[in-house]
Amino acid sequence: MQTLHVAFDDTDSRAGRCTTHLAFKVAEDLKRSGADLVDYPLLIRLNPNIPWKTRGNGAVCLRLHVQDAGRVVDHVRQAVEEGSAIGTGANPGVAFLQSDRVPVELQRFSALAMCDVLSRQMAEKVAKAASVQYFTFGNGQGLVGSLGAMGCLLDGDHTYELIAYRKIENCGRPRVVDEQRVIKFSADTYPNTFNNYDRNHNRVLIAPHGPDPVFFGVRGESADVVGSALPALHPEEELDGWTIFRSNQGTNMHLQNEMMIAGVKAYTAGHVKCKVSSKPHAMEGGHAMFTVEQDGSEMPAAVYEPTGLANIATKLEAGDIIEIGVGVRKGTTKYPKILNVEYLSVLELAPAFDVLNPVCKVCGKRMKSEGRNKGYQCNRCKHKDASANKILVPLERGIKTGLYVPTSKAHRHLTKPLQRYGIEKAGFQLLTS
Ligand code: ATP
Repeated sequence: MQTLHVAFDDTDSRAGRCTTHLAFKVAEDLKRSGADLVDYPLLIRLNPNIPWKTRGNGAVCLRLHVQDAGRVVDHVRQAVEEGSAIGTGANPGVAFLQSDRVPVELQRFSALAMCDVLSRQMAEKVAKAASVQYFTFGNGQGLVGSLGAMGCLLDGDHTYELIAYRKIENCGRPRVVDEQRVIKFSADTYPNTFNNYDRNHNRVLIAPHGPDPVFFGVRGESADVVGSALPALHPEEELDGWTIFRSNQGTNMHLQNEMMIAGVKAYTAGHVKCKVSSKPHAMEGGHAMFTVEQDGSEMPAAVYEPTGLANIATKLEAGDIIEIGVGVRKGTTKYPKILNVEYLSVLELAPAFDVLNPVCKVCGKRMKSEGRNKGYQCNRCKHKDASANKILVPLERGIKTGLYVPTSKAHRHLTKPLQRYGIEKAGFQLLTS
């Protein structure tokens, strides 16, 4: 048996198709023809700030033991070509690596693809250096995502998603999902599943709304728990099938690199440790804007209303030390680059005070300043006090140090939900060796 890694991306477009569905179909075909999957199919989300992504910037990788790698390469290349929306916006790339190990240059490329913008040319260079065979269609940008998925070992924190697929004749029809069953399943499996139901807004989160073939996707901490969703949710619709992906969803993988404000690039992601340099102000639409400073460089930061964090951000004061997970919004001729905040961790609260005039020692009324360095006089009893000073009264801040994460409705695929903090995984055992 030979070990073969197969990865592909950019098979879909806004006009249709779905990369995970193609992975499901290809994996079924390969299993039928005798290949063994040595890992769950991987669903890897890459930098969510890439402007040309279709939806969630997801790519897939299958790690296999096969008898005849050449035949598998031919089969998958053809399946990707025929199963992609080429001509209506998809630019697929499909990559193959025959090796027991994933070369370090691929792993590095993958780590960068989580948080930076990479060119197809760079992908081609890395593919050649790592002896990856590849095919591209359209403009071939899909090669970047393919290598990003192939190089992602997911040997640290990871999650699982069961994705159930619709029969082709049902695509486009409304999905019927029993809300009460979703609520019960969520409660019964907490904290081992996440983002199934938004209790704050009474919304089912597992089912998409578009014409794509995904019926629903259930996310959680183990293959067993997401696998239990099908009997628990008991969909009425006859399905085409389902698969369980292992994934970096819900891990904040895109925010792992520490960024410096000076020279920060548009569309990148990461986290920044910085000082609040201007008090956040609320804007129309409920968003909050402020500036942050790091090593003498300043940048604007924005917390958008749907995250549910804008109210908290307005309680920050200049001088507070924070860490923020961010995506960098491109600057325009009118506006500079902006740090779009994805999480807020308040590390240190600066002392904040109300500054009051001193109280008259004779009658107890608050005094008036006589001018700079000229002391104070009481308006009521006319008592003068040249040595009196302003009084600093500590302000009730209404915010505590700690981590603030967005509400689940505003989560990106990679956003780590609050319930996952503290239960991150440290490793993974392959299914067979
Ligand atoms: P879906 O989530 O529905 O599968 P998508 O959002 O993944 O769709 P794609 O159609 O795959 O969208 O388009 C994303 C494109 O961006 C792909 O061509 C992919 O190779 C490319 N890409 C992914 N990450 C990066 C990156 N870090 N730098 C440059 N290009 C990237």
